Amino acid sequence: MYSVINTATIYGIDSKMISVEADISEGMPIFEMVGYLSSEVKEAKERVRSAMKNAGYALPIKRITVNLSPASIRKTGAGFDLPIAVAILSAIGIIECERLASICICGEIGLDGKIQPINGVLSMAIEAKRNGLEIIMVPKQNLVEAKLVSDLVCIGVENVSEVIEILNSGDFQTNGELLAEPCVSELHYQYDFEMINGQQALRRACEVSISGMHNMLMVGPPGAGKSMIAKCIPSILPPMDSDEQLELSKIYSVCGMFDERQGLIKARPFRSPHHTVSPQGLVGGGQNPHPGEISLAHRGVLFLDELTEFNKSTLEILRQPLEDKKVHISRAAGSFTYPADFVMVAAMNPCSCGYYPDLNRCHCTRQSIQRYLSRISQPLLDRIDICVEAPTLNYSQIVSKNKNESSKDIRDRVMACHKMQRDRYLNYDFKFNSQIPSSLIDKFCKLDEEKSIYMSAMYEKYSLTARTYHKVLRVARTIADLDSSEEIGFDHLNEALCYRGLDKRYWEAGV
Ligand SMILES: [Zn+2]
Repeated sequence: MYSVINTATIYGIDSKMISVEADISEGMPIFEMVGYLSSEVKEAKERVRSAMKNAGYALPIKRITVNLSPASIRKTGAGFDLPIAVAILSAIGIIECERLASICICGEIGLDGKIQPINGVLSMAIEAKRNGLEIIMVPKQNLVEAKLVSDLVCIGVENVSEVIEILNSGDFQTNGELLAEPCVSELHYQYDFEMINGQQALRRACEVSISGMHNMLMVGPPGAGKSMIAKCIPSILPPMDSDEQLELSKIYSVCGMFDERQGLIKARPFRSPHHTVSPQGLVGGGQNPHPGEISLAHRGVLFLDELTEFNKSTLEILRQPLEDKKVHISRAAGSFTYPADFVMVAAMNPCSCGYYPDLNRCHCTRQSIQRYLSRISQPLLDRIDICVEAPTLNYSQIVSKNKNESSKDIRDRVMACHKMQRDRYLNYDFKFNSQIPSSLIDKFCKLDEEKSIYMSAMYEKYSLTARTYHKVLRVARTIADLDSSEEIGFDHLNEALCYRGLDKRYWEAGV
């Protein structure tokens, strides 16, 4: 008596199909499970035994062998309980279903036979469909998530008895309430640039940063409004297209952070991890690897407030994903690649008291300022395209009643700029100015002779390196795009150089 059931397991942010085979034979009564199992999967034995007993079906007093294949993939998570139970019930003849081969079954079981929700159902449903399966059976709480995948019959189940009833009836139809129409209304933002008085340079820097997806660092005294400005950034992020929405939703689903009532995630993420975050929490990992904050910020913004308070080694790990736009994690369970294409926006004080270079207020010694700034390494600094100062506001700016430009107006310009880049890079594998490879800089950031001479002087003046010179050109490209200019002009170059000058001022010069 043998049966086989299809199920799926999470692998990175995608999913892989797994076959659960059950064989019942005469011999010593023993329940054995094999197939490169983690401890949670081995524990399934006890949950399945109790759940079946409580649903009124005792395990036969025979030799039961369950195998999860392929053996090369390590099986983790509790989602194998239900397919294991169904495989056994089918092997002993309680479930008789002709279409088992076209069904994917996933779910955790409690001792009472109730089926518990699991993570990653969205990826599993996508994988089931890709493998030509027609039906997916998932815990009721995950039903809406599975239904996001079209052309797949999705059945939500609450307990083992219901599973047996549905499978034996042979009547497979998507159950549960109809999926509400996705909400297409304008996204609502808590913070808007309209609320920000003054800080013109910062506002402009944010616009340039998001327009070309450039990493940005704000330096300024406490209370200048750096965090407030950062909170406004979500309101100028352009909406995601449907592929981006699906990709991000998969990441949140795998992390168990997917709110299925909202449907696919529509707003670009804005993640703001605390400075005590562990390296694992930031970039992902763990014994059973899971995505970190940088992947949760995929296609959006990762905001690091109080940058100097982060553990230095934690920050250094960011260097590789900032270049590659993804992160590789190798563990015993396998090696995984998580997407991590985010804009890093960071904020910091210029010294430990916060007031340098205002020497009336700052009494830090040269050494202490140097020590403070050295918490941010040069290689990390080199990966930041835009450095901008956040000055303290004066009284008239704080109480000013002048109307500020709203986020919507800024967002419209950002969207137009994104569209220009999409059209320009249609045939390339990158999307934004910040991602132009060095080999294509000459093609897309062309300078005429006069400007080349100017830039060679600036190269010396700002002691640029090949990397930082290219960054200046990429930022200048974005500024030209915001100006709807195909040609990069002196104004554009000067503004881009301005964003480069600040790190020199603090990190090398005055201090
Ligand atoms: Zn100071």
